[in-house]
Amino acid sequence: NFERVKAQLKARLGNDVYSSWFGRMMIAETSRGLIRLSVPTAFLRQWINSHYLDLINELWKQGDPTALKVEIVVRSTTRSTAPSIEDERPAARKPERNAPAGSTTPTPSYQRAEKATPSRLNGAEQPGKQAVLGSPLDSRYTFGSFVEGPSNRVAFAAARAVAESSSSALRFNPLFIHASVGLGKTHLLQAIAAEAIRLKPNARVVYLTAEYFMWRFATAIRDNYALHLKEQLRDIDLLIIDDMQFLQGKSIQHEFCHLINMLLDSAKQVVVAADRPPAELESLEPRVRSRLNGGVALEMATPDYSMRLSILRQRYETAASEDPSLNIPEDILSHVAQAVTGSGRELEGAFNQILFRQSFEPEMSIAWVEEVLGNVYRAGEPKRVRIEDIQRIVARHYNVSKTELLSNRRTRTIVKPRQVAMYLAKVMTPRSLPEIGRRFGGRDHTTVLHAVRKIEGLSGADNTMAQEIELLKRLIAEQA
Ligand code: ADP
Ligand code: MG
Repeated sequence: NFERVKAQLKARLGNDVYSSWFGRMMIAETSRGLIRLSVPTAFLRQWINSHYLDLINELWKQGDPTALKVEIVVRSTTRSTAPSIEDERPAARKPERNAPAGSTTPTPSYQRAEKATPSRLNGAEQPGKQAVLGSPLDSRYTFGSFVEGPSNRVAFAAARAVAESSSSALRFNPLFIHASVGLGKTHLLQAIAAEAIRLKPNARVVYLTAEYFMWRFATAIRDNYALHLKEQLRDIDLLIIDDMQFLQGKSIQHEFCHLINMLLDSAKQVVVAADRPPAELESLEPRVRSRLNGGVALEMATPDYSMRLSILRQRYETAASEDPSLNIPEDILSHVAQAVTGSGRELEGAFNQILFRQSFEPEMSIAWVEEVLGNVYRAGEPKRVRIEDIQRIVARHYNVSKTELLSNRRTRTIVKPRQVAMYLAKVMTPRSLPEIGRRFGGRDHTTVLHAVRKIEGLSGADNTMAQEIELLKRLIAEQA
């Protein structure tokens, strides 16, 4: 019955939509009329639940009258043993990392968008038509609340120029911003939108996630108003697309390419964010990638200590303005800024834990904070694999020294381990190609990309190579 339901979904929704949402759906369990289907990420489950669950239920019951209910569950993602190369691809891995355990997942923008009433923001200029084009903005995400520092200064300046549509902004078209999860992409993008609207209330500004863009097109095509949607999109001044790494499907990309070509040709501003630079958006069609590469690509890195402290102070001020009884001493904040070295999202998680804990245990001390943070980490993300660990373990495995591994020597006995290590750094850590290049003795990102392709090719063609890679992955995961 599962195969039949899948075939019907594909027939109804078309290949593109089908493979975006159901390509990785599996059957988990059927018992006493309850059918559990599993998908790899919470995001997919949410999406399928809100858009397709009724349809799936209906299709399932057509072939199996004893069925009572279909449920979508998220597959366990613990891959302690031999993760397949396919599973570890960044594109497949990202969504899970987007929803760290212990923090509440924000309502996805597409859901908020659907409930939204048409605003001046998103298409109120055309009353009566399919008004809501973009997703509503989170009012907390402004330039004022964005903490600037060495790791994001350039991106921040470019964002301001774009929002103010200053003449220098012409050089940043399209403006492409990339950074790992939690480093402020969404915040910055929504701040651009908010500021552009504040300065020019009549400007047609649209902020969308790539997923929402896909969904809008997919449903527009299904319901025969694609033309109308395209007309509306043609009519905007500033298009902002978030989480570009999730754009999938040939025909959707074709539409996207068309759209940004048209906007760029008429000198309308386009801003795009993703978790990696354009060249690494491997699921994108080459021409979309090259179009995105045509402007400026700027990276945001992890915040330094003083930025982290500023972010925490700002959170604290906001929280204290809502709850005057709140009192977190400065030394506690600085301790947290020192201890939590990751993204803005991790800081937020730590801060929320402290607020929560303080509500029933107001006496704070450093030891108290240590304990709270310990809980954050234990409940939080799985242990991070570090590039140094990969280098150490790969060097040992091939019996070369780490110095040789990072050197410029080109003998075969060293080139292969080096390429394997760079490949593993790419698939086992969230680091970007340029960053990996830097950590491998200052190599260029194209060298890293070449190594990744090479090892992918080798392990695809050669079973022993594939096994060797799996073995190394396991060693690294265990010993890191
Ligand atoms: P991304 O979209 O890159 O995953 P977000 O924009 O969702 O990251 O940021 C995660 C959280 O961290 C948000 O609450 C955001 O406000 C906060 N944050 C990240 N960077 C900054 C920054 N530079 N200044 C202020 N807040 C930040
Ligand atoms: Mg984001």
